[in-house]
Amino acid sequence: MGFLDGKKIVVMGVANKKSIAWGCAKALMDQGAQVIYTYQNERMKKLVVKLLGTEAFLVECDVASDESIATAFTTIKEEYGNIDGLVHAIAYANKEDLAGSVVDISRDGFSLAQDISAYSLIAVSKAAQPILNDNAGIVTLTYLGAERAVPNYNMMGIAKAALEASVRYLAADLSPQNIRVNAISAGAIKTLAVSGVKDYQKLIEVSKDRTPSKVGVTIEEVGNACAFLISPLSSGIIGEVIFVDKGVHLS
Ligand code: NAD
Repeated sequence: MGFLDGKKIVVMGVANKKSIAWGCAKALMDQGAQVIYTYQNERMKKLVVKLLGTEAFLVECDVASDESIATAFTTIKEEYGNIDGLVHAIAYANKEDLAGSVVDISRDGFSLAQDISAYSLIAVSKAAQPILNDNAGIVTLTYLGAERAVPNYNMMGIAKAALEASVRYLAADLSPQNIRVNAISAGAIKTLAVSGVKDYQKLIEVSKDRTPSKVGVTIEEVGNACAFLISPLSSGIIGEVIFVDKGVHLS
């Protein structure tokens, strides 16, 4: 018996077995949930099918497109009915905006990163709202770079600050309908997305070095916190950003 038995959760952002979204999906399944995965495009679909060994419970959703988001949630409703939660583990910024000087960030680069990494949470929350069951949870992923100037994290830090503010406003908006919105601020983990940041190895190394135990956080640990935040066990937690970083934020 798991604390998510019988629950259906949409997980957005699995690219491969190193993805934080995959850590979340595994933890949700461990607690008895049925996971429905969304993937960005055909290229990502191939990777997810390889990981899962099946095409079942897969729905395309490119968060850059309102049409794609609308189609995805219509498909989810038609094929799987109402859902009990949503995990948003999606971010993107141009590589040149994850290096060098912040003053060089272009207007287009700023808009793109904000659109995919922050606005998308608002867009998918709106699309999911009509099919979310009572006491559902929405969880997104953020990073310490939202509140501190982490070298090279640059544009993504700015986007994550907007994401964290969006979590608070969405939480205030949706909690009267008994939908809870929260974020996990995960420690640095080697994934496809993080490799876009210049000198990302250093970012991961420094992050690990700043944990009191000198051991970095895993996608499984982030996933377990996500399962808790999605579930009614966390009914008192609303609009919060919770560090799951082995204590990096302490120093
Ligand atoms: P990842 O590369 O495994 O996942 C990023 C996902 O974003 C991919 O699945 C990609 O397909 C998806 N994506 C990008 N653009 C998209 C679009 N237009 N439409 C739909 N999907 C799109 O990397 P990850 O590190 O697991 O990233 C997941 C989340 O965790 C991100 O929000 C990231 O910023 C956050 N995060 C990562 C770390 C870290 O150190 N890896 C730390 C804290 C927070």
